[in-house]
Amino acid sequence: MPGRGDHEEDDLDALGARVSAARAATQARGETFYQGPSGVHLAAFPPRERWDDWAELDSRAWPARKEHRYLLVPTTCFNCESACGLLAYVDRDSGQVRKFEGNPEHPGSRGRNCAKGPATLNQVTDPDRILYPLRRSGQRGSGGWERVSWDEALDALAARIRAAIIEERQNEIMIHIGRPGEDGFTERVLASWGVDGHNSHTNVCSSGGRTGYQFWMGADRPSPDHANAKVIYLISAHLEAGHYFNPHAQRITQARANGAKVIVLDTRLSNTATHADHWLSPVPGSEAAINLAVAQHLIATGRYDRQFVRRWWNWAEYLQACHPGLPGTFEAFEEVLATLYSEFTFEYAAAESGIDAAVLAEVAETVAGAGTRFSAHVWRSAAAGNLGGWQVARTLFLISALLGAVATEGGVFPNGLNKFVPRPIHTPPHPGVWQDLTWPLEYPLAQNEMSFLLPHFLNEGRGKLDTYFIRVYNPVWTNPDGLSWMEVLTDESKIGCFVALTPTWNESAYFADYVLPMGHGSERHDTHSYEQYDGQWIGFRQPVLRAARERLGETITDSRQVNPGEVWEENEFWIELSWRIDPDGSLGIRQYHESRARPGEKLTVDEYYGWMFENSVPGLPKRAAAEGLTPLQWMRRYGAFEITSGQGALYGQPVPAAELEDVQVTPEGRVYTATAKPFSPNIVPMGAPEPDGEGRRAAGVDVDGVVRRGFPTPSGRLEFYSSTLAAWGWPEHALPGYIKSHVHPDNLDAGQMVLLSTFRLPTQIHTRSANAKWLDELAHTNPVWIHPADAARLGVARTGDLVRVETTIGYFVAKAWITEGIRPGVVACSHHMGRWRLDAQPRGAGGMMATVDLRHGDDGWTMQRRAPVAPYESSDPDSQRIWWSDTGVHQNLTFPVHPDPISGMHCWHQAVTVRPAHPYDQHGDIAVDTSKARAVYQEWLQLTHPAGPGSQGGLRRPPWLMRPLKPARGLFRVPGQ
Ligand code: SF4
Repeated sequence: MPGRGDHEEDDLDALGARVSAARAATQARGETFYQGPSGVHLAAFPPRERWDDWAELDSRAWPARKEHRYLLVPTTCFNCESACGLLAYVDRDSGQVRKFEGNPEHPGSRGRNCAKGPATLNQVTDPDRILYPLRRSGQRGSGGWERVSWDEALDALAARIRAAIIEERQNEIMIHIGRPGEDGFTERVLASWGVDGHNSHTNVCSSGGRTGYQFWMGADRPSPDHANAKVIYLISAHLEAGHYFNPHAQRITQARANGAKVIVLDTRLSNTATHADHWLSPVPGSEAAINLAVAQHLIATGRYDRQFVRRWWNWAEYLQACHPGLPGTFEAFEEVLATLYSEFTFEYAAAESGIDAAVLAEVAETVAGAGTRFSAHVWRSAAAGNLGGWQVARTLFLISALLGAVATEGGVFPNGLNKFVPRPIHTPPHPGVWQDLTWPLEYPLAQNEMSFLLPHFLNEGRGKLDTYFIRVYNPVWTNPDGLSWMEVLTDESKIGCFVALTPTWNESAYFADYVLPMGHGSERHDTHSYEQYDGQWIGFRQPVLRAARERLGETITDSRQVNPGEVWEENEFWIELSWRIDPDGSLGIRQYHESRARPGEKLTVDEYYGWMFENSVPGLPKRAAAEGLTPLQWMRRYGAFEITSGQGALYGQPVPAAELEDVQVTPEGRVYTATAKPFSPNIVPMGAPEPDGEGRRAAGVDVDGVVRRGFPTPSGRLEFYSSTLAAWGWPEHALPGYIKSHVHPDNLDAGQMVLLSTFRLPTQIHTRSANAKWLDELAHTNPVWIHPADAARLGVARTGDLVRVETTIGYFVAKAWITEGIRPGVVACSHHMGRWRLDAQPRGAGGMMATVDLRHGDDGWTMQRRAPVAPYESSDPDSQRIWWSDTGVHQNLTFPVHPDPISGMHCWHQAVTVRPAHPYDQHGDIAVDTSKARAVYQEWLQLTHPAGPGSQGGLRRPPWLMRPLKPARGLFRVPGQ
């Protein structure tokens, strides 16, 4: 009898023979055998030529061969920042989407998705979703809602915003964004209103990582070329949940298949760590010390790229600023460099991190062997967890910069080289106001808006908001200190009108004045481009039923014509709202929302994207024309377009002589001209240095007598030494270095442990994935990971026992998971869980939201679970099949704010005391004292070095640093300066 393996081999042989026969037959007919951009033959993906009429057999009808015929329509997943391509299978009979799979034409995701992509179908058919515009009746949060028309909602909001603009209360308008999912549309809407009202979630997400990269290369994101790397160094769980994780994970997997070594620093045994060649589980906050020990090894053993360092580091500026007595030669710098990090021995890093020195030495040797094929990435994780976490990214890039692995094959690129943002049809000017609620003087170097401090700023009377929008954002649940958010969101004297743009209910939307239903990833338009490999692409999210029906010859003019209920999309909403704010054009707003083709009429999304694809995306018009399509038709059909690949080290390109007239060169070699234009808006992106004050622009940098493009930093080189940090009050941190975290062992009280609270589960993400039943079944709770030694010490007998985790402002009660997958002395709890609603409020996510009682008394807030999730009746029979009841705990409510004084990042790690739960504790209990939260906020505020009169020419912040929506140049000056 043959074994099972033999059968499989036989089957594979037979399949291979059939594929070969099919290929031969296809070629005999003179047709091309479809390979697709993913390089996978037609067994994996429907070939694009057949997307108008694709047939599949109905698996449930087997053995009958019942065919379903589909139109395949691309869109983009909206469930994380990776923006993978999806292909909607639109049933030609019912006109509805039956499933979502990967889009093989998408250059970033190449047909692959994680579980959250196909689960878009659950979100579309979610029985609990919001289908109509609603206005609250009764007190905020009381649960009373009445249906209103879109016209009523739009007119009410337009009147408020118009009044605020006319009365010069522009700073009372704010749009607060969670997942952007697009490149710049919302910023331009605000700019057209003349409002500096963009707020983001970035300072509770990735600012720490961004800051470290920004100070090195003027671009705030790394773009690692994992696929071609020899050594991959990851700080965090990039194979399952890291930034751009599916596009990156598939390339890391590709590299591993080619023999690449993977080094993972993660205190938890994540799925990524299980795939590593070297898994390091460091003491939280010690990651920068490990990076510096590796860097020191490269320096001490002379295994750094001398020519790269000599040519591209701003070492001369460093010598001049810090060692003026030394000769300004590279040799003198090397002598200093040899001593700079000498304290970072393997033994020192071992003492800090708890990793054996011999293991660190082995890792350093592996890194040294990578040469320029060293790809590395940190994004959230340690960079988002620790005071000074931004130095984790800065020290990580130090390793890349020593190896010369910058914009090399297998190295790390600045994101500007691998991202493409097309020019839109209208570009309004920079707003003429500065919003102090998001960019306060205390945080002049903050990477992004100080979003999570908004409740404290409002409580201090720094301002108030007339109209506050949230989109793809749930501040009460996502932020630390959510109950301080609750206090201001329910106070109409602080927030006059609170509007939630959302497809689903969430903990914040329950307290809104208007809840306006917006589409999911297959029900809205957006464009986006992300740095996922050495290439540039642009993706197009679209309402798939609109594209399908247009393909069949219908004319659709508004996404509400195809979306369920009255679900809309933001772009059409913003255009309509802007039009109503300025109906006659007298405020100067309407012009930015007007058609160019039909002056006096409203811009449509077809014209908006049609113009962009026709005029701003190189190569797309030609490619579309080759298939007899307009660029918009081409993007509606295929969903993504690759503009370039294999960009290489563009920073080293010589600047053409024609761009070098009327040149001025600084002593450091920065070259300015009156004539140069940035050679590509995508290569010298957001952080490009400002004009030199005489109308000149930075054109490049003199390297060995040749003017080259350089990096968008003040010096034009990679900034080993940051003159910005030095000048703005932080000279001690101007070099890559190690800042001891607020949870460093020296800073913990006796018995305290470190809580890691930021890790994602692969199948859940933030708020909206809770409305996907498949994902909820896969992952629905967040136990506290605790090492057996700690469990024994604390008296936690078994997995499932309740523990009380005490922070500085309260506590939460959760189940313990006793596991050796976490370091002793550290506990961990994933942040997706503990979704809740009050009894009076509508059901928001029946499979994930427990019903709770929330009380506010003299000694603070308490939350207790009234009812767990349970089977319920709905339009979806699966809601009767919910078999789980434990949906975890909302731990973020118990965290105070910890704003890093430099990056502005909220430092998520918590020093906690863990105890067995009290006898009367219940799973999910929360207690918080928001007066203590205010005290912690004030304590951290004391760490800052505010801008102010006399600071750096009277500036609020260095103009060269990024800012998503920059006000007019003059507003960078502190008032009165
Ligand atoms: S990684 Fe998953 S959730 Fe993120 S965009 Fe891709 S398919 Fe969607």
